[in-house]
Amino acid sequence: MARPEIVDVAVIGGGPAGLAAAAEAKGAGASRVIMLERDDRVGGILNQQVHDGFGTKVFKEALTGPEYAAIYEDRVNEREVETWLKTTVTNLTPDRLITVRNDKGIQTIEAGSVILATGCRERTRGAIGTAGTRPAGVYTAGAVQNYMNVRNLAVGRKVVILGSGDIGLIMARRLTLEGADVVCVAEILPQPSGIAGNLVRCLEDFGIPLYLSTTVSEIHGKERVTGVTLASVGAKMGEVKGTRRFVECDTLLLSVGLIPETELVVGVGASMSPATNGAIVDDSFRTSIPGIFSCGNVLQVHDVVDYATLESEKTGIAAAIWAMTGKLPEPVINMKAGAGLRYVLPATISGEDAVDFTMRPWKEEHDKSVVFKSGGEVLRRLKMPHMEPAGMIRVRVGKGRFNRVVDNQITAEIEE
Ligand SMILES: Cc1cc2nc3c(=O)[nH]c(=O)nc-3n(C[C@H](O)[C@H](O)[C@H](O)COP(=O)(O)OP(=O)(O)OC[C@H]3O[C@@H](n4cnc5c(N)ncnc54)[C@H](O)[C@@H]3O)c2cc1C
Repeated sequence: MARPEIVDVAVIGGGPAGLAAAAEAKGAGASRVIMLERDDRVGGILNQQVHDGFGTKVFKEALTGPEYAAIYEDRVNEREVETWLKTTVTNLTPDRLITVRNDKGIQTIEAGSVILATGCRERTRGAIGTAGTRPAGVYTAGAVQNYMNVRNLAVGRKVVILGSGDIGLIMARRLTLEGADVVCVAEILPQPSGIAGNLVRCLEDFGIPLYLSTTVSEIHGKERVTGVTLASVGAKMGEVKGTRRFVECDTLLLSVGLIPETELVVGVGASMSPATNGAIVDDSFRTSIPGIFSCGNVLQVHDVVDYATLESEKTGIAAAIWAMTGKLPEPVINMKAGAGLRYVLPATISGEDAVDFTMRPWKEEHDKSVVFKSGGEVLRRLKMPHMEPAGMIRVRVGKGRFNRVVDNQITAEIEE
């Protein structure tokens, strides 16, 4: 095998997170930055998202996914980041030796620092174990998005959607606009998983019914889906007797969650968070393995791409500094998610700079506050008119507030 390529910063994944991280790593002075993408173009999941709504925070306008990605693709090209397309990273070692596979065969890369920006994949029928036959016509939402928006192919005429997360909702609208009959959206939880705005824009505006506490208990059809059985579920997610009903359709679209592509970060031995399913990181987005960083959807699932971009830009700068100097501010303050919050990220901070914390609540909350406390004293309080699990919360805490931290511990929680 040829000698390894030597680079300052290697970015794995060329989606919005990888693009932003690579551009900023180069901008921060790293001389050789390489971005490795298994697809034949950069942009990641944005390439198939032709709806608008991207860039509302960063650019204050609603761009389509490809328009948003193009801005960052131009930026990495202007800054002379080397992009290797059709290149899959198959292995990463703790001392940052990367093995890739592409049309040249197997190559290795030795990196000063590595940024993992590999995004998410979708949960499939196998992951949720739905009973019934195995006909054609069962798709994940992302697969349908790819067929429709990238390849211009229709997937079916009469569609049932399982899952009311934003992806499911957006696809309900998209399929309707393309002439399909979306019979209903079924959601196993007693409340919708997508943000309130998408419920209105994607379902209510098109008269598509949403059945809560409902699941698909069986899929029917021999060659092609002929229908599904819906059933109500009770408090413990068990099927409620006598609620089964057959719904005719030729397509079942599954929008049942995203799984971070963590094989590389797990393989390298980084500490993982059970709350986010991503790596545990500090405020430089360092994992527990020196020189290995993580950002974007592989770190935490982002509903808004702008936040993935902002987090990744910070990661790119930190990775470049580490590659050039071997130094970054040491994390000395531990963060804890308190009442009402599922998690708060980063897990540790240095306190030497302002931090943009990201977090999600367990449940919908109205007119409450996100409060950062240390030793019983409030460091920062932010009133929030509305919080919901589907919407990531992002709160900046200024550097000066960290001077008041007691016992190296801050708790973030939701209060009246
Ligand atoms: C259906 C849907 C609708 C959305 N709608 C909106 C919206 O309206 N507005 C908004 O702001 N945000 C939206 N988002 C969120 C936004 O798309 C994500 O936050 C963003 O794409 C995350 O970027 P990423 O780079 O982390 O992941 P991705 O976009 O998934 O990119 C990851 C990249 O890594 C590559 N990769 C993975 N593993 C390897 C490997 N081993 N080797 C090489 N390459 C690899 C993949 O091929 C991919 O290109 C939506 C998301 C979805 C799924």
